[in-house]
Amino acid sequence: MADIIDQILAKDEFTKEDIVTLLNSDVKGRNKLYQKAAVVKAEYVGKKVYFRGLIEFSNICKKNCYYCGIRAGNNKVDRYYVTEEEVLEAVKYAYENQYASLVLQSGERSNKDFVDQVTGLLEKITEITNGEMGITLSMGEQSEETYRRWLEAGAKRYLLRIEASNRELYAKLHPNDPTHDYDYRLDSLKTLQKVGYQVGTGVMIGLPFQTVEDLAEDLLFFQKFDIDMVGMGPYIEHEDTPLFQYKDQLISKEDRFNLSLKMVAILRILMKDINIAATTAMQAIDEMGREKALKVGSNVIMPNLTPVKYREGYLLYEDKPCIDEEASECKNCLEARITMAGDTIGYGEQGNSKHYYQRQEKLKDNQ
Ligand code: SAM
Ligand code: SF4
Repeated sequence: MADIIDQILAKDEFTKEDIVTLLNSDVKGRNKLYQKAAVVKAEYVGKKVYFRGLIEFSNICKKNCYYCGIRAGNNKVDRYYVTEEEVLEAVKYAYENQYASLVLQSGERSNKDFVDQVTGLLEKITEITNGEMGITLSMGEQSEETYRRWLEAGAKRYLLRIEASNRELYAKLHPNDPTHDYDYRLDSLKTLQKVGYQVGTGVMIGLPFQTVEDLAEDLLFFQKFDIDMVGMGPYIEHEDTPLFQYKDQLISKEDRFNLSLKMVAILRILMKDINIAATTAMQAIDEMGREKALKVGSNVIMPNLTPVKYREGYLLYEDKPCIDEEASECKNCLEARITMAGDTIGYGEQGNSKHYYQRQEKLKDNQ
């Protein structure tokens, strides 16, 4: 097995079959993969981690994704939105502690009030941080006009996971209606690129009905799409969702975690200069999950800055970690763990995707 792994890792490009072999690798093989990914990370993006303070702005959502604990149809959830004052307090914390970037995430809504509210927030954040904050949005599918408005108001990056790049698999994870349309999601990603965002996407790993071949295709999808950032992690079941009925068909959580680490490592080798997040879902399975992801290629981490009183309301899946820790406790423990993982923290640096700048250069050359 190790010989085949050596041969694949010596190549410049991977085929789908190569990726499947890497994803199926045994402990010896996967250690070689991790070593190579660590070398690529150090060479292309450095042994540095960038913080994005995460504000889970609202759990109100109009959609009904079958996997998600805050889907509209889950009437056990108390719905909230964080007030403007509380958001700005979290922003101040981030700014004072030299987190040079933020992620504003929420359920999907696109009514005028919501769009205006987010626009106003972006303008205020830009004002109180002297335009120095790198703002990422993760608010689902919006119109081109809304994407443009939010970009003008100060957002720089947008995360919209494709969730599963295989169209048939996507259809099994979502209701069959126009608000959950695969092509519309794909078009949204294209629009975000056209409008000028640093664009991030991602998938869940270990979903029911998902094969290793699907995961290999997901990685090739990111590459083909020329994506700037990726956030991916294990699927974790939630008992109040329709997908929970397939819980006995899932691979073990440990296997989902190990597959996720392999996905990160392969992606780092495939797309050397992109930003890859060490996601919270990895920490939900393994307490040191995010640090392990940093060792094999991730370079972004999202400490949770959502006011603690709202966190119970944003349970996307079971065992979500850090739901009762204040931001300052998280910061101290993260610092120690990141240092242990051998990285430094890029305090005061936005850590924008290097790939984005390369992509912009290429675009200019082609014009
Ligand atoms: N509503 C926006 C959207 O869907 O793009 C952003 C917020 S949504 C909660 C953020 C991500 O949570 C989704 O893209 C999905 O991949 C992830 N997620 C939802 N339910 C999950 C689950 N059960 N396990 C792992 N990740 C999950
Ligand atoms: Fe809403 Fe996003 Fe959850 Fe889907 S994944 S139900 S859009 S919050």
